[in-house]
Amino acid sequence: MISRSTSQMLFEKSKTYFPGGVNSPVRAFKSVEGTPLFIKKGDGAYIWDEDDNKFIDFCCSWGPLILGHNNQKVYDSIVAALQNGSSFGAPTRLENELAELILPRIPFIEKLRFVSSGTEAVMSALRLARGYTGRSKVIKFEGCYHGHVDALLVKAGSGLATLGTSSSAGVTESLANDTLVLPLNDIQALKNCIEQYKNEIACAVIEPIPANNGLLLQEKTFLLALRELCTANGILLFFDEVISGFRVSFGGAAEYYGIYPDIVSYGKIIGGGLPVGAYGASNEIMAMIAPEGPVYQAGTLSGNPVAMAAGIAQLSVCSAPDFYSSLEEKTQHFVKKINDFASIKNYPFELVTIGSIFWLSFNGKKRIANADEINADMTAFKIIHRELLNRGVYLGPSGYEVGFISQAHDMETLDIAANKFCEALEIVFNN
Ligand SMILES: *Cc1c(COP(=O)(O)O)cnc(C)c1O
Repeated sequence: MISRSTSQMLFEKSKTYFPGGVNSPVRAFKSVEGTPLFIKKGDGAYIWDEDDNKFIDFCCSWGPLILGHNNQKVYDSIVAALQNGSSFGAPTRLENELAELILPRIPFIEKLRFVSSGTEAVMSALRLARGYTGRSKVIKFEGCYHGHVDALLVKAGSGLATLGTSSSAGVTESLANDTLVLPLNDIQALKNCIEQYKNEIACAVIEPIPANNGLLLQEKTFLLALRELCTANGILLFFDEVISGFRVSFGGAAEYYGIYPDIVSYGKIIGGGLPVGAYGASNEIMAMIAPEGPVYQAGTLSGNPVAMAAGIAQLSVCSAPDFYSSLEEKTQHFVKKINDFASIKNYPFELVTIGSIFWLSFNGKKRIANADEINADMTAFKIIHRELLNRGVYLGPSGYEVGFISQAHDMETLDIAANKFCEALEIVFNN
């Protein structure tokens, strides 16, 4: 058992400062056992907590750190920018440079707007979709997360109704009622909904690779049908690629599947570990945004030069020719080792994977495309999370969240981690 006394002491204090002791709920370890670890530093594939325990990190700040912690190029770029000051509230050349890395590589967007988080990107893009189409309703899919945007903190209503109902206190029913909530991977439900509301729907927003509530890989036929139905009915297709963008390929899920949305949102990786989000679309759609057009959106720290510098350094590395294939190869090696072990032992467990993302599925079914198929019993996850922590492997503290492999996770580290996973699985299934 590792010592956590410093983390425990810090958590006791933080609980008096912040709701639940944290500044983002999942960090509180509420769905697993124990106290949150307070992290002191990270380097490469590793993090250290305040008690000097060292962990192989698969949380990677929930996705942004595709090069691992404290990457030298990102570090140098941040320091160089910082030497010129931290913020001006005026344009800098660094915004151009990050845009020049992104726009030529992503064929379906012609203009971008930088913001400061994924939530802000989605919220702004939703306003843009409504402003451009003059329509008010939005289709959302159950099991997708789009940040804490009011209109998207909405779940399916009861019965057959597609009108959403609020999933958070403080979100009014009138807001929720403009959101139509549909099951993932269900073409018929989509057709019915569009048939009923077609002239009122501004956009359909989806995580094309839903990775915030398990890893709910969609059939390509579903995504294609969604694309076609949107086009046929004047509905904008909005890919929320905050997690999948620059992760499964440089151009995200859109490039991976070869299906292009009308509007896209990015976050996480785009900022190299600093707070950046972005949304983009064609020149025509983006012309609706202030100061060119009537849709208002602004930000004091938008396009912050230090954050831009981090994004430029990180995306420069990601744009190298073999970057994504080599990440995927490493991930496959890691996942196969663990899945082979589980299968020999007949454990009802599977690491589900795409690109360099993996998710621990405990219901023994390889591919789950729908939110209601997730095994809600997270007991097994609690055990494996605890056993892995005790063995120096850090997973994000929730069984609904995915893990990430970074460029800094080398084969040796991954082999060590895979062995720890196998040990932990034996404990989960032999209790
Ligand atoms: C993380 C995430 C968000 C929210 O981004 P924040 O930076 O946490 O506000 C939105 N959409 C998706 C798909 C995400 O993964």
